[in-house]
Amino acid sequence: MRKHFLAMMIAFAAILTSCSSNDGESWLNVFSLNDDLAMGQQFLDGVKSNPAEFNILDSATNKEAYKFIYDIRDQLLSSGEVGHADVFPWRVFILQDTIMNAFCTPGGYIFVYTGIMKKMENKAQLTGVIAHEMAHAALRHSTTQMTKKLGLSTLASIILGENPAAMYKMASDLALGLGDLAFSRQDEYEADEFGVKYMSKGTDMDPRALASFFGIMSAMSGGNQPIPFLSTHPSDEARSAKIIELANKYAPGGGKLYESEYLAFRAKLK
Ligand SMILES: [Zn+2]
Repeated sequence: MRKHFLAMMIAFAAILTSCSSNDGESWLNVFSLNDDLAMGQQFLDGVKSNPAEFNILDSATNKEAYKFIYDIRDQLLSSGEVGHADVFPWRVFILQDTIMNAFCTPGGYIFVYTGIMKKMENKAQLTGVIAHEMAHAALRHSTTQMTKKLGLSTLASIILGENPAAMYKMASDLALGLGDLAFSRQDEYEADEFGVKYMSKGTDMDPRALASFFGIMSAMSGGNQPIPFLSTHPSDEARSAKIIELANKYAPGGGKLYESEYLAFRAKLK
């Protein structure tokens, strides 16, 4: 019975491809908020069971670092603009590794590598990246992409919980930008826009810092170390210009960068 309902939903959703609600979330999503939450939790379980690949910085012995990052999260949530703010757990994890990346899963689990944080110059840049990642989760880009790109039988088996391993694989492919399920350019643009909005309304920091951080990443491309963040976040001049345009709209008065506070935090990262 649920399969029939699902087929109807997908057919209906296909008609609405270009529509989205006021909060920016697409209507083209057959998954429930609980599905998003379950995928995020499954991904986290997978991360925790694989410390060789994902070295989570211990929160009990690194209270200061986590306080710094959770303060940022709390300010962004206080903007009143984050969708599903009370439903998703919005947990942030620091991964200790030279990898230059940050990503989120459905349901609001954010992961930031120390490798990328060491390339940032101020707190506003870190806040911009976290805001961008939170926006992907709040706008439910992962499950929207899955709805668009997966066949009916795969979708049905995932939603009916018949294939938890496939669900985990897809959630992680999405989060890490692997396979065919990468976020679209439109998703990236939306995450930039909502990230700028969260930052403008929830903090006293300058959202233009997100553009300056993309500038740092672009300047580093072509170097010896691969930058996974750039493969999922194409950063050309047009993107930076668009972020500045959004910042001019939402935060015309500018804002702070908190450079020295950030450098003190960064110096303590191993
Ligand atoms: Zn993104």
